[in-house]
Amino acid sequence: MKILVLNAGSSSHKSCLFDLSQGAEGAAPHPLWRAALDWTHQQGKVELSASGAGESIQQVLSITDKAKGIEAMVKTLVEGPTQVLGELAEIAAVGHRVVHGGRHYQQPVVIDDEVKATIQSLIPLAPAHNPANLQGIEAIAQSLGNIPQVAVFDTAFHSSMPEAAATYPGPYAWVEQGIRRYGFHGISHQYVAQRAADLMGEDIASLKLLTCHLGNGCSLAAVTNGVCVDTTMGFTPLDGLMMGSRSGSVDPGILIYLMRQEGYSADQLDTLLNKESGLKGLSGISNDMRVVVEAMEQGNAPAKLAIEVFIHRLRREMGAMIASLSGLDGVVFTAGMGENSPLLWRQACAPFEFLGLRLKAELNRAKDDQDIAAMDSAVRVLVVHTQEEWAIAHSCLSLLESKHA
Ligand code: ADP
Repeated sequence: MKILVLNAGSSSHKSCLFDLSQGAEGAAPHPLWRAALDWTHQQGKVELSASGAGESIQQVLSITDKAKGIEAMVKTLVEGPTQVLGELAEIAAVGHRVVHGGRHYQQPVVIDDEVKATIQSLIPLAPAHNPANLQGIEAIAQSLGNIPQVAVFDTAFHSSMPEAAATYPGPYAWVEQGIRRYGFHGISHQYVAQRAADLMGEDIASLKLLTCHLGNGCSLAAVTNGVCVDTTMGFTPLDGLMMGSRSGSVDPGILIYLMRQEGYSADQLDTLLNKESGLKGLSGISNDMRVVVEAMEQGNAPAKLAIEVFIHRLRREMGAMIASLSGLDGVVFTAGMGENSPLLWRQACAPFEFLGLRLKAELNRAKDDQDIAAMDSAVRVLVVHTQEEWAIAHSCLSLLESKHA
């Protein structure tokens, strides 16, 4: 069974084709084909890259319509050097990453008109993401016709959180209005938690895991027996940890101050907190950890402060998640920073030595997932490469099999 996965964002689209004929157990396989659209660099044009059948292509196309871009991307499955299919009809289903499922979806669902209407109704909660996800669903229907499409939600894994963890201590009206902690990156947290359990040779149902997704966006999840019990992102992906260009949690009084004293509008605050804060805002250099660390090593004081604040916040939130877990069997690092930065592993773990957590003397990045804890550590520490696209394909297969069972 061949499953296409589409991760549709506002300025980029990523897609993979997986062959699930052998089932979906074990480590993530390489996709048969992978492609991406990048709308950010050239006005009125899109950059298309695709790889399949041992070949890759890169093209700049004069397309502004997102659906037409997706159509051009999908065509590289059946035409040109990256062709891996005889015809598009060989695709059995399409899985979509949908960012916000609100309180409606705790599991992946087959998309129908009602599901589309619900995703639409949740746009106020995810104004940058849900419209792009809907557009992706429509574009696939145009290109592939009446094919089963499945929505896999980034919020779903966190829907199991206890009310005490999910509720903000504002007025009770917030509870009724759905102003609560939803959490994000759920597809990644769920995948890396299961993968860590597999690598540890343990049943996830008996583990307390702290998963750390540290990419451009950063979030932590506390996972007990395979179930999320707490997470750092909240009503929006702005809550919690300091990130590449997002502030994470700040005293809400700062916002009131800026509105009163400096006349900030909602849109200005949105830009300030989402795009001009975090590593980028504080260092004044970049949202890329590598660039900021390099500047720090050359003696740049704001870069040093930015890294120190990032690590401080990370440790503090890790501590909070460990409290929510009431124990700790494993820490899992994933995403761009989490997969690649020995400095970050060392710094993040240092305060937890009192729990018996010890890292190996020498830490190196690796292509494969790895356990970086010392032999005698009381807590395993795993670096797992997140495989969100594979996790979506896997969810699609499970859902479709359960429908046919
Ligand atoms: P996204 O959240 O957009 O999917 P990624 O998971 O790809 O992002 O993470 C991107 C971030 O990962 C970059 O901004 C960079 O800061 C960080 N990163 C990538 N490689 C390294 C590295 N070797 N050391 C430190 N940080 C890295």
